[in-house]
This record gives sequence, structure tokens and C-alpha cells, in this order.
Amino acid sequence: MSGLLDAALGYAARGIPVYPVHWPRPSSGGATLACSCPRGPSCDRPAKHPLVRHGLHDATTNPGQLERWWSRWPTANLGLATGICFDALDIDGPAGLAALGKFARAVGLRLPGPLVATGGGGWHHWFAPTGLGNRPPRGLAHVDWRGRGGCVLAPPSRHVSGWAYRWLRGLDQAPLSEAPAVLRELLDPDPPSLIRPADTAKPTALRHPYGRTVLAAELAALGRATPGQRNRTLNRTAFKVYRYVAGGLLDNQEVTLAFTTAALAVGLDPAEITRTLASARTAGLANPRTMPAGPGHSSQEDGP
Ligand SMILES: [Zn+2]
Repeated sequence: MSGLLDAALGYAARGIPVYPVHWPRPSSGGATLACSCPRGPSCDRPAKHPLVRHGLHDATTNPGQLERWWSRWPTANLGLATGICFDALDIDGPAGLAALGKFARAVGLRLPGPLVATGGGGWHHWFAPTGLGNRPPRGLAHVDWRGRGGCVLAPPSRHVSGWAYRWLRGLDQAPLSEAPAVLRELLDPDPPSLIRPADTAKPTALRHPYGRTVLAAELAALGRATPGQRNRTLNRTAFKVYRYVAGGLLDNQEVTLAFTTAALAVGLDPAEITRTLASARTAGLANPRTMPAGPGHSSQEDGP
């Protein structure tokens, strides 16, 4: 199994810290695979948990240490620490792929970078590190982000299903790219306060707190809409918010993205969302609103 050690050394040479993880080994007389740990078939994270005491905190790029580990456990799986040289978008099976696909079509997202097919039937898209920690992207079910303090298994690790992790686009075929802005937007822990370097040139009025409050309230209203009312509610709430875009309190692109994400999350169809938002935007931008003049006013005054 020098392939595993060679791969570990290869990741380490790129600066990616590596640590050894339990592996799948034959059980029940060779008929099935089970975790190499003492719990065997009853392990709840088979072939996915660390062999070393501190797990990913023991991960290293030191070739001597890696050689010692893989000479002790020649068939150990490869755990990589994320958040240092790369982050990973972790897509959990067909449900995750469907959620990401819907979002990608709606916002024109492309993910051309390195791509791993996991042994468990999922995918890992690798990106340049964002500095963010592990978190699920808002609105995308069965999709996760592995960043600082996180880890992923990497090729040629083997899943307990018997399938190996493998590269669909390798690190030599596709360079690591920055995480696309639309994806970052779903990962921001607190969108109103987070201003990224690329956005600092925007006038601060485009992130006015009052505009933010209106946006949050209308997105919440969309989230509460009953199934038959969702498209109408999208139109009504987006119209209201685009009026504040016209008034200079919010950013057009950001509002479109926020509504697209929220509308996908409530189950609206991407094509329908695009049409409805285009119409709400045209109407809203033609009717600018700004902050209410005095206390006692609220965004509710022009409610339905
Ligand atoms: Zn185990």
C-alpha cells in the first residue's frame, strides 16, 4: 500500500497537513468491510475517524512522521486538514448535488477547480482557503463547507462501502480557485456586518442598517409563505426590497442573490424565480424608497 504513503507525501509536499485515519477491513469472514477500530462493525464513523490521539491537530507535513505512521499502519486512510492550503465544499450524495445544482443554475455558478468523488457517493470541490470555519451554506441541504478546523478524507482513501476516493479533476489538472462570491455569500456568518475587501469600494449606504432590516423582514415573510402563495409572496416582498435598492439603501446584486437563495430554499423553481425577480426588480427600481423620516415609521406601513 505504498500508494497511500506516496499520496500522503504528495499532499504534504504541497503544504497540506496529513494524519492517519482508520480504514475499512474485511469482517464476517471477508464478506463485508468494517472499521479497523476495535468497535469494528458497530463503529458509527467507520473508516473516517483518526488513528492518532489528537486527530487533525496531529496532522503534519513532516515526511519522516508520515513515513512512521504509514509504516505502522500501511493501509490507513488519509485525513487532510482543511482551512490551511484549501477548503472543501462537501456535497453529500444525490440530494446535495440536486440542491447545489439548483442554486448553481439560478445564479450561474461554475465550479471548475479540483474535484474528488468520495467513496461514499458524494463529492468534494476544493477551493483556495477562505479563512472561514466549518459551516453549512445557508439554504443548501446536504451540502457542507470544510474550512478552518475541519478535515476531509482524500484519494486514495477507501470508504467502508469498498469504493475509493478518487480525483475527477486532480490538483495538477485544475488550479485551486477562490470560492465564488455567490457561494461565499451563503457561508457568511453574519452578512450585514461582513464586508469583504472587494466590497469596500461600495458606498456604505448600500449596506444601510435600515435596508438590512427591511431585507431580513421580507426574506422571513417569504420563508413563511404557504406553498400556493410562494411565487406571489416572492414578487411582493422582492418588489418592496428593490424599492430600497432604488433608494440607495441596499445593493441590487446582493438583494437578488438573497431572494434567489431564499426562494430556492422554499422550493420555487429556478426559472420561475428568475422571471419573478426580474419583474419585481423592474417595478421596484421604478419606485424608489428611502428611510422613513422620523421615529414610529416602519417597513410595515406599506404592507400588503
Ligand atoms: Zn471505527
